[in-house]
Amino acid sequence: MAKKDKDHARLEELTDRLNELNDAYYQKDAPLVSDAEYDLLLRELEALEAKHPTWRRGDSPTQRVGSPVLSAFEKVAHRVPMLSILNSMNEAEMQAFHERAVKELGKTKIDYLAELKFDGLSVNLTYEDGLLVTGATRGDGTIGENITPNVRTIRNVPLRLKGKNLPKIVEIRGEIVLPVKAFQELNKDQEESGEKVFANPRNAAAGSARQLDSSITAGRDLKMFAYATGAWEGAKRPGRQSELLDQLFSWGFEAHGFHRVCEGPEEVQKFYEDIAARRDGLDFDIDGVVVKIDRLDWSEELGYVSRSPRGMTAYKFPPRQQVTQINDIQVQVGRTGVLTPVAILEPVNVHGVVVGRAALHNQEEIDRKEILIGDWVLVQRAGDVIPEVVSVIKERRTGKERRFLLPDICPSCGFKTVKVEGEVAIRCPNEECPAQNLEGLEHFVGKGRMNIIGLGPRILEQLVEVGLVRHPSDLYSLHESDLLKLEGFKEKSAQKLLNALEKSKQPKASAFLNALGIRHVGERLASSLAHKYPNIPDLFNVAEESLLNIEDVGGVVAKSVAEYFSREKNQREISKLLSLGITPQGAKKTSADLAGKVFVVTGTLTGMSRPQVSEWIEARGGKVGSSVSKKTDYLVAGEEAGSKLDKARELSIPVITLEELLAMAEG
Ligand SMILES: [Zn+2]
Repeated sequence: MAKKDKDHARLEELTDRLNELNDAYYQKDAPLVSDAEYDLLLRELEALEAKHPTWRRGDSPTQRVGSPVLSAFEKVAHRVPMLSILNSMNEAEMQAFHERAVKELGKTKIDYLAELKFDGLSVNLTYEDGLLVTGATRGDGTIGENITPNVRTIRNVPLRLKGKNLPKIVEIRGEIVLPVKAFQELNKDQEESGEKVFANPRNAAAGSARQLDSSITAGRDLKMFAYATGAWEGAKRPGRQSELLDQLFSWGFEAHGFHRVCEGPEEVQKFYEDIAARRDGLDFDIDGVVVKIDRLDWSEELGYVSRSPRGMTAYKFPPRQQVTQINDIQVQVGRTGVLTPVAILEPVNVHGVVVGRAALHNQEEIDRKEILIGDWVLVQRAGDVIPEVVSVIKERRTGKERRFLLPDICPSCGFKTVKVEGEVAIRCPNEECPAQNLEGLEHFVGKGRMNIIGLGPRILEQLVEVGLVRHPSDLYSLHESDLLKLEGFKEKSAQKLLNALEKSKQPKASAFLNALGIRHVGERLASSLAHKYPNIPDLFNVAEESLLNIEDVGGVVAKSVAEYFSREKNQREISKLLSLGITPQGAKKTSADLAGKVFVVTGTLTGMSRPQVSEWIEARGGKVGSSVSKKTDYLVAGEEAGSKLDKARELSIPVITLEELLAMAEG
């Protein structure tokens, strides 16, 4: 083949492959290759297209800024398009970016605003007169998906901007991220529930924010970080990126503190290295720093190249990936009996951390990624969570690799495993399975739950092995003489553990509920439940419908909770724990700004539906009445308020707008 034909064939191939990868990434939240591999292919295609511009196909992935819109969501047009940022892959490229700016602007000194490059889902929030009216994904940069109800559930997103002289209309650009710890818990929960797991925190954030049922989003502890604006009508716009950030923070967006004004490229490099060194300690994933010319007018002057502003660059960190071999695949049994495969790796140093295991989650994941025992694979880690296998390097296969299949008997107790229809998980159905009990115990004693200091997995393992402990309540019946029989225990250490057990007896009700290990109930839901049911036995035989009235509780959670508390075995265990002196401490109201106040909501409100307003009031300790009476403290009235407004005036009850209501309690 002539060189030109080869180029053409390669261009076609790359276009198809990248479109396929995009589809897996954006539509299915299940990437097939690492970001680095993707970038490499994309750059190759860009180079070919630059050489032969007429060959570029209409569906070329180089022409897209983001993902196409999912059909299930209403479409929403951004007032000002959301652009993408060009990358700098190393110090030389960063330096070249600076030199080009110096030359074209004709300035000798340029200040930069350097900030974190959050690895999440880009969003555009529109505020009218300070009120959040729309939250949308970036989509293709021009049209996104309307995810407003989901955005409202994110706790650090202000529903109403604080301060005076707000723009009439302002678009806030930012990133929705899932903290690494929440990601890990979510995947564990997905595993246990037999549902699809997420490849990384970014995919989990995207998957969580694009839920058709916003109560699922609410349960996911997402965060949003704002870093730019789009449309801006009325009020004066700051002249520098650094001032713009301060403005965003003063309006109520979370000030994470990770940004710096850098005088020139040397200081940018220092910021980059500082952040790289702290990357593992952050509780969310980042993949670089974004460097913007601080003066917005200079940035504007530089213009755009293929829908990317030339006044900023994403200075990327090298991916935390490494190639290694899978020596074996082992099976773990989780606390609800789910069998989970784990890859045992040839230990490899991935950017400063030695990695020996990687999560494989379930059989479906193994089959989808076509992983065999003995394969060479690309592994990737994020924060300190267990690493993931990104992809298999099939070129390195020798023919000696073996297929892995989850066993049909439980490796812990030998029971025949079962697969529930519609779930990907395979479970051990034995309620007294030692592995399940052990996992349940580890969960029970953990931090943020019963918090029993000094009771690590090894001690628990021994206690289970010798038959002293099967259920959490057994822990509180332990005597010094029991512990002295265990390896490594002396009188002093035994007494120390007994003291720790004694000290754990007054947990917060929410911590106690969390410790029970009810499926789908993590820290946040446990706290919502405890708020409503500080006396735990009140939950015995609770009806699903009553649970649905609780903030953040949706159908799936209600079913799981009701089922858990209807089981005699669980009731018995909880009663036993209580009789042994465990005294859960009643949940205190976390935000009671509106405590005791009675509101009635009427008319058409802008930006929030009436049920949303009611929910908002109740979440802050207020009550919502259905009709106006002498007991009503405030009437919240929107457009076309009818008889209720007349009644309120008649009784001299204060009438307030939605804005005034939101101002009564922040956040
Ligand atoms: Zn078992």
